[in-house]
Amino acid sequence: MHRKAFYAEYIYYQGEIHRDSYLLVVGDKIYGISEHADEEGSTGYDIEHFHNSIIFPGLINTHTHLPMVLFRGMADDLSLMDWLQKHIWPAESKWLSEDFAIASAELAAVEMIKSGTTTCCDMYFHAEAVASVLHRAGLRAMMGIGVLDFATKFGENADDYIERASEFYLKYEKDRLISTSLCPHAPYTVKPENFQKCVDFCKKHDLLLHTHLSEAPNENQICIDKYGKTPVQIMNDIGALELQNNFAHCVHLSDEDLQLLGDTGANVSHCIQSNMKLGSGFARIKEMVEAGINISIGTDGAASNNDLDMIGEMNSVALVHKGLNQDATVLTAETVLKMATINGAKTLGLNRVGELKRGNQADFIVVSMDEPHMTPVFNPISHLIYSAKSTDVTATYVAGQCLMKDRELLTLDEQTIKDNARKWAQKIQDNK
Ligand SMILES: [Zn+2]
Repeated sequence: MHRKAFYAEYIYYQGEIHRDSYLLVVGDKIYGISEHADEEGSTGYDIEHFHNSIIFPGLINTHTHLPMVLFRGMADDLSLMDWLQKHIWPAESKWLSEDFAIASAELAAVEMIKSGTTTCCDMYFHAEAVASVLHRAGLRAMMGIGVLDFATKFGENADDYIERASEFYLKYEKDRLISTSLCPHAPYTVKPENFQKCVDFCKKHDLLLHTHLSEAPNENQICIDKYGKTPVQIMNDIGALELQNNFAHCVHLSDEDLQLLGDTGANVSHCIQSNMKLGSGFARIKEMVEAGINISIGTDGAASNNDLDMIGEMNSVALVHKGLNQDATVLTAETVLKMATINGAKTLGLNRVGELKRGNQADFIVVSMDEPHMTPVFNPISHLIYSAKSTDVTATYVAGQCLMKDRELLTLDEQTIKDNARKWAQKIQDNK
């Protein structure tokens, strides 16, 4: 098996910074960390030097809609419901095809690799097409098919969407990089009877349930008017809090909702930039952490963010909650880094990623300290959260495979993918 030793000035390994060390990788797994490139007498390591650099675990983006990347910047400065109902849903019904999803996912994969994301959790349609792109890219993903009450060109009704999800699950059940989930869109678009079917499906196959929850204030009101319950109460009643779950947003929670999520150890994907851009509000992350909720970080789709940049997202999370709480001690740099790595892995139930340690998958990124904004270095974690740009990521590895080195992609043709994306944008522009 291929043995590689990656040298860096700083390596964030098992929650600690190690100086002038080698990360030892055997095949697709991490073997350990050493001050020498020949730990325990094993010779034959190929040595790779990353000078003036930091090695971090790969970032985990727990809420994405990859096929929407080609809608980036198409409809801005609108509230969630106007944005969805008047712009995004009509554009999706007009443009979405397998070719569109592939072109979009390719562009998304390029962006993720270049900004240090090694795993994403995606909710959408055309999951097979997207999964094939991610496979080619070498990225790890939790992929799920969306479920809605109503018909779209991807399905007739909830049963039909679940049937498609079942086929997808069977196809990828034993895949090395792709895991599967089920993604009922939200309690305001999927009624409790259908949501219950999703919960039952997840229970039966031991799958992650990934959904949008309490994103906008009127969403709560819709559920209270229709069902007499908040979205979180609905989740509790149908048993979704007992499952492996990933609740995106959770911006509008009552104290009781928050406590219920905390008591059951629920997972929340915090999408701060999307929530700010759509004017949805601010999730109460400080209280959520105190209540015992596992918080990870998601960018949401690039149509509402407008990028998939987890480094920018971590920066927003760390800064905004300090400002909101008027307390600079809220969410330290290391806490936010953990949200974007190990908490994300916990959310997705992926036990072998999110942290660099022996036996884990070798998913890691290299961040350069060359640029003026990264100089000098007292604390590399502080730099990643408060100073780094996504362009400081110089190399990205998943399962020991190098996907980018010196900012050159090795698995995808970036130029062709960008040219193709521009052609799609022109088509959309010409047919408005
Ligand atoms: Zn979303």
